[in-house]
Amino acid sequence: MRYFNFDTTYLTLPEILFDINDPATCSNTDTLIFNDTLAKSLNIDINLSAHPELLTGQTTFSHPFSAAYAGHQFGNFTMLGDGRQHILGEHITKDNRRFDIQLKGSGRTRYSRSGDGRASLGPMLREYIISEAMYYLNIPTTRSLAVCTTGEPVMRETILPGAILTRVAASNIRVGTFEYAIRNGADNLKLLADYTIERHYPHLSKEEDKYFKLLESVINRQAELIAKWQSVGFIHGVMNTDNMTLSGETIDYGPCAFMDYYHPYTVFSSIDVQGRYAYENQPAIGQWNLARFAETLLPVIHSDQHEAIRRATVLLDQFKALYHDHYLRIMCQKIGIEKYCDEDFHLIETLLECMEQHEMDYTNTFIHLQDINQYNEILKPLSAWIKRWEKRLQAEHTPQQLMRSTNPVVIPRNHLVEAALDDAVNGDMTTFNTLLNVLKRPFDTSHPHLFKQPGRKDRPYITYCGT
Ligand code: AMP
Ligand code: MG
Ligand code: MG
Repeated sequence: MRYFNFDTTYLTLPEILFDINDPATCSNTDTLIFNDTLAKSLNIDINLSAHPELLTGQTTFSHPFSAAYAGHQFGNFTMLGDGRQHILGEHITKDNRRFDIQLKGSGRTRYSRSGDGRASLGPMLREYIISEAMYYLNIPTTRSLAVCTTGEPVMRETILPGAILTRVAASNIRVGTFEYAIRNGADNLKLLADYTIERHYPHLSKEEDKYFKLLESVINRQAELIAKWQSVGFIHGVMNTDNMTLSGETIDYGPCAFMDYYHPYTVFSSIDVQGRYAYENQPAIGQWNLARFAETLLPVIHSDQHEAIRRATVLLDQFKALYHDHYLRIMCQKIGIEKYCDEDFHLIETLLECMEQHEMDYTNTFIHLQDINQYNEILKPLSAWIKRWEKRLQAEHTPQQLMRSTNPVVIPRNHLVEAALDDAVNGDMTTFNTLLNVLKRPFDTSHPHLFKQPGRKDRPYITYCGT
């Protein structure tokens, strides 16, 4: 039976970059959730939902492999790799788009270190719902095709049900893949860079300065991606270099979460005690990660290393301005300004300062600003700012329309996600499915009030890695 249309080019790369191995055998797989819309868009014709053995790699018609990579975790260099992931292959759609079909939680691999290679149900469902929410918020992201239970227990602090997430990504090439390749020699690095260009930036393949331009393109995509995260209050939580893709997609939904009330220092991850990956730090960390990427490319950017460093530095220095421009554009759209200029930044900053000072809900404030008459009570702390803003809006044609199409009404709020996961893990998927459907229409104002309510400030929210 043909289910995925595999043509796996990654295996033509040097063998040092992967390990061919099968997903673990599971006693009793069952499809808990399946993404029909995504399956259709991938031109998957058979009803895969009825085949958990295919979705979990129990039966394969390919050469599943785990990718090698390294990474800077919280600033420290480490050798890593897919410790609980298997890439089943690269699926080609009818219109020739290429996607990695990857399993997460599919057993131990050569790169597992001390880990058990498993994943538990709650976190896999969490990745499913948040990555889908990101997709519908128009933020580049890996997507989720299915979550299947494995029938195997997973030992954490308690015994949890095991699960496998079937994930779809433009690719799984990370900054960490380059860090790994360069430690195995410039030849391997060059082959990986050529491959990445062919796959994600094919228009560069004939360019003389293609490695320099690869760096430039990745910098630009990441600058835009992180600006989009900031605009919806998304905190990735573990921006290690192994969790930064070359495609510019958000990857690895471990300890991520959305901010309720606005505070620049917001951190949710239990292990991020110093706040390295706090909301406000995300752009600077993005730039730091890109500097690690640039270092790997130095040998191929120019034969003279001084010249290579000079060129890479020029690009890295541009990150701030690029990021700033993406950020300013999107944030201006959020307050109804289409033709933005540098002075508008001050308007944004003042708004955020007021929101911080009065602990205002990030998402809802932008929604309330669309109806200042209706919400004037809630918006009182902003009254001085609103006067300035209204004056500025006189130069705009359709600010209301712009705001309505830019500001999500619903986001995957932490308390809603938790409630959905609690029920799901206890065997009832109703809450999860209802929330998922709401998150598929984030700009629709007609959702019940329940989905728009912020969480309670007196209950600090904590997220976890590797569960
Ligand atoms: P992450 O923090 O999710 O990016 O994971 C960092 C690395 O740890 C990746 O290489 C994962 O494959 C690996 N890893 C996470 N959890 C496990 C686990 N339970 N067993 C084996 N490897 C794991
Ligand atoms: Mg990761
Ligand atoms: Mg992870």
